Amino acid sequence: MDWVQNMAAMEALLFAAGDPLSCERIASILDISEDDVFLLAEQLKRRYALDPASGLTVRVLDDRVSLVTDPKYRETVATFFGDVRGQKLSEAAYETLAVIAYNAPVTRAEIETVRGVNSDSVVSRLIDRGLVQEAGTLDLPGRPALLDVTSQFLLEFGLSSANELPPVDLMMYDSVQQLMHPDLAVARDMVPVRPPVIAIDGPSGAGKSTAAKRLARRLGIGFLDTGAMYRALGYKALQLGISPSDEVAVEEMLKNTNMSIEFSSGLQKTIVDGEDTEPFIRTTEVARAASDISALPSVRSYCVRLQRELGDKQPFVLDGRDIGTYVFPNAPYKFFLTASTEVRAKRRLQDLQRLGKEATLESVMDEIQKRDAQDSGRALAPAKRASDAMLIDTSDMSEEEVVDIMVDVIRHKERYPYGGAVR
Ligand code: C5P
Repeated sequence: MDWVQNMAAMEALLFAAGDPLSCERIASILDISEDDVFLLAEQLKRRYALDPASGLTVRVLDDRVSLVTDPKYRETVATFFGDVRGQKLSEAAYETLAVIAYNAPVTRAEIETVRGVNSDSVVSRLIDRGLVQEAGTLDLPGRPALLDVTSQFLLEFGLSSANELPPVDLMMYDSVQQLMHPDLAVARDMVPVRPPVIAIDGPSGAGKSTAAKRLARRLGIGFLDTGAMYRALGYKALQLGISPSDEVAVEEMLKNTNMSIEFSSGLQKTIVDGEDTEPFIRTTEVARAASDISALPSVRSYCVRLQRELGDKQPFVLDGRDIGTYVFPNAPYKFFLTASTEVRAKRRLQDLQRLGKEATLESVMDEIQKRDAQDSGRALAPAKRASDAMLIDTSDMSEEEVVDIMVDVIRHKERYPYGGAVR
């Protein structure tokens, strides 16, 4: 099936299911990757948004996708259902909802402290309306209930996760109320000011590109795979029979090289001399050539100039080796991912197997150890953690956990740019 048919098939699936479907399920039914499901969902959503005669939209909530009615027609739909959901919330309800959304999990007593009045009946109404739920109890006498917002709240407010709440001062309850504005564009305008550059560095197999892709998607910004640039140049050198360590020959090659980056359906195309190199650069041989060629000063300045040009134009999550130390040393958000050599080798092996390439765990382990030593031992822009980068060991973490931590750190910094304890 091609892209268009897949989109039509996904629309049919979502319509038939009614309830949110997990990306994993959709991916397995359509026999495509989960990344493709996200891209299709985004495109389908855009298609509805561009069609003024459509009353539908697509919601992506965590890892689930659903076909829902456009909030513009909330009142109409509510009238049909005669449903409590159609009723407007009171000021007190908005205020309470904001306190819960921004501080979850919270107890009723904490809400009362913030609002200065007893909020029990408002909370009960919010629970009845399905916007708030009891998410556990606190280990204190009386075991007070901990309250959190529900998936229904996120759906109604057009958010993919509570992390997407605008960074407002706790007292600015109005902004939460405005999120209910029927015109989604207004809500979208209020979504946080996008951070300019997010740097993710670390060794091969640490989970950088997976985390970077997911993070970029969660924040709605671009993802730039800088390793692909070095791979593309390594690939070109191999094609020309030039040794990737031959400084003079490579410098000559660069004079006749035209590299550009394009994005199509959210996927990066690293174009060299008019050809998209992506299909050819994921082999062990090219990875080795990339590591060799990236140690050359001419190559580094060639790639870094392009990376800075791109990063200056639009917000990106960049993954690489020297983004936080050298390419964007002033990036406001920096992460350094790492994992044990064995875990990294297993991940690489899986990547290679997915691409139909043969390899053993031992050979991959050997390869990445060599590449690590070369990348971190080189004189120019060695792969190392910037002193202000947050270190995350992903060995025992799921992809989602890694991204959740990053989003928490970014949101916290957005709210408290001059410091402040993480809750
Ligand atoms: O991340 P990836 O494995 O695609 O990178 C391939 C090689 O490119 C790395 O081993 C490293 O030598 C080089 N690289 C670099 N600086 C970057 C990104 C990648 O030197 N920012």
